[in-house]
Amino acid sequence: MKPPPFDYRRPATLGEALGLLAEAGSGGKVLAGGQSLIPLLNMRLAAPARVVDVNRVPGLDGIEAGPSGVRVGALARHAAVERSPGAAAAQPLLRQALRLVAHPVIRNRGTVVGSLVHADPAAEMPAVLALLGGSVRLASRGGEREVPAAAFFTGPMESAVRPGELAVSAFFPALPARSGTAFHEVARRHGDYAVAGVAAAVTLDEDLRIAAARVACVSVGPVPVVADVTAACGPRPAASVAWDAVAAAVRDLVEPEGDIHATADYRRHLTGVLAVRALRDAASAAHGEES
Ligand SMILES: Cc1cc2nc3c(=O)[nH]c(=O)nc-3n(C[C@H](O)[C@H](O)[C@H](O)COP(=O)(O)OP(=O)(O)OC[C@H]3O[C@@H](n4cnc5c(N)ncnc54)[C@H](O)[C@@H]3O)c2cc1C
Repeated sequence: MKPPPFDYRRPATLGEALGLLAEAGSGGKVLAGGQSLIPLLNMRLAAPARVVDVNRVPGLDGIEAGPSGVRVGALARHAAVERSPGAAAAQPLLRQALRLVAHPVIRNRGTVVGSLVHADPAAEMPAVLALLGGSVRLASRGGEREVPAAAFFTGPMESAVRPGELAVSAFFPALPARSGTAFHEVARRHGDYAVAGVAAAVTLDEDLRIAAARVACVSVGPVPVVADVTAACGPRPAASVAWDAVAAAVRDLVEPEGDIHATADYRRHLTGVLAVRALRDAASAAHGEES
């Protein structure tokens, strides 16, 4: 199918882009990597009056990594973030998760920020932002605001972005010393959206006991489901954790739905299994061990 007709604009500056979006109001859509929007247009599941292609806007493709975390610009492609040594050093979960996003050709074009705004509950990057307590910076003609992850994902394929706003960057915080992360998922084919997936972050205390443990689960709710499982895991070394009890605690926290890919019960079971794998690997990484 072909997309419905729309007014295509390709601004050369951020100011021009924000002006075009303000004019279009709820009829405007941003085009970034196009890896989700173009299929939606071609299937006629989206019919915006105006598409604002921001690919020529300078200054939006930055990846700034530092001790506090990584700020990723709106035009930083999945592949660029995945390959950035600075981003991997400051927040290893980015690379761990991006390797699971679709296929390399899609990652060459798709953007991390686009994936956040698209807010697919099966997508990896929203779970990463939610787990880390990151934020998204939104710009409009009226100014800028920084929205924390907890308020950003408002429903399946729904985010806090308002008509007239452009997400200019996202911030993924670093974790404290003695922390580790991991992402595990199961997809029917490599590169497909996950049937279920879990991102985990673990921080150890000075005696190498688990001091903090969190998971973010995908494909088991309308938005990424974040759970603090510190009480179920610690304070004890990873080798002494009752992992079956941790899996049960995570299973109790999610409310998946069944569909043609998996029953709700299977998704719940899988989430418990993946949570334990991800938490154990995150604890190993916090110890400085390869998983
Ligand atoms: C075959 C296939 C498999 C895929 N598998 C996965 C997968 O396993 N995991 C996964 O996470 N994703 C997957 N994707 C989606 C892919 O990661 C997309 O790149 C991503 O979801 C959207 O990024 P984009 O830059 O292409 O956004 P676009 O397609 O350009 O836009 C997506 C949506 O976000 C809005 N938007 C984008 N950028 C901004 C911005 N800066 N400000 C405001 N609004 C914005 C657009 O208006 C649109 O509504 C898959 C895609 C395909 C085609």
